[in-house]
Amino acid sequence: MLDKLKEIEQSALDALKSVNDQASLDAWRVAHLGRSSSLMQVFSGLGLLSKEERPAVGQAANKVKIALEAALAERTEAVKAAALAKSLEEEELDVTLPGRGVRVGRLHPSTQQLRRVVEIFAEMGFQVYTSREVETDEINYQALNFPPHHPARELQDTLYIDAGERGDNPILLRTHTSPGQIRAMREASTEHPDDPPPIRIVLPGMCFRSEQITARSEVQFNQVEGLAVGENITFADLKGSLSDFARRMFGQNVRTRFRASYFPFTEPSAEMDVECFVCGGKGCAVCKQSGWLEILGCGMVHPLVLENGGYDPRRYTGYAFGMGPERQLMLRYKINDIRYFWGNDVRFLEQF
Ligand SMILES: [Zn+2]
Repeated sequence: MLDKLKEIEQSALDALKSVNDQASLDAWRVAHLGRSSSLMQVFSGLGLLSKEERPAVGQAANKVKIALEAALAERTEAVKAAALAKSLEEEELDVTLPGRGVRVGRLHPSTQQLRRVVEIFAEMGFQVYTSREVETDEINYQALNFPPHHPARELQDTLYIDAGERGDNPILLRTHTSPGQIRAMREASTEHPDDPPPIRIVLPGMCFRSEQITARSEVQFNQVEGLAVGENITFADLKGSLSDFARRMFGQNVRTRFRASYFPFTEPSAEMDVECFVCGGKGCAVCKQSGWLEILGCGMVHPLVLENGGYDPRRYTGYAFGMGPERQLMLRYKINDIRYFWGNDVRFLEQF
């Protein structure tokens, strides 16, 4: 019986050598360790053996069973490893497949236009001055010649910030970039109180007003402001610089005109129009048949504003101007709804 067990073990191990996949592993297990295998028949025949024979045969059969199970486990690992190696070899990475494209972002159309404007003024020697978006009433209004309760404030519906009782100087979101003029002048005049240096800056940035949001008005919009202060600056400098800007922005042959206007912080004040670049001045829907498009507001800096900035109006003069990049884009690309700019619709933004 012990010889027979040796035979069973040897033939099972021999058979295992030719097993190369999961299906034949399963078949081998059934044939050599299954209920009707020769080995299991030895176990079930133990009761027929004599008392003397039984322990030795039982022990030997157990040893064979353990040996076969160990051999099966080892073979299973080997088959798995071979299958993995085979799949790695056969399913090589195909580097000829086209890659997944990376979506490249771009600047917002307003930022692009803002930068075009700033670039042109930079070529004329203007520096960029950025100023805060949260302002005090004093800097946003009073220093710019809008006294408390003055009706001119009605021009700019304001978003106030609840910052406790501050009397006539509440905190607000700037309604225009002009408070930056005061900050820039004060910065320069504090450093050199007796002899403040000339200033030539552009101030780009976001402004906020409490508007009902419609196709024509938004609660937020960009402005670019400009300020030139120095000795002997006249309205001729203003006209020359802004006409030059219009030519660089809208074309060398574009005509400009100045119309009298009103702003509290400039005197005299004007609006600058450029010849309609949609119809060439003949009259169309964009220019409302007038042939002209209003592009910016400007004027000579009010003496009170100079004084509030620390510049003596008897010695210094200056001019200032402000424009909206969104409005310029709307005119140029015939965009009929300002809400597109901050609606975050990629279909709109991708066109720029
Ligand atoms: Zn036109």
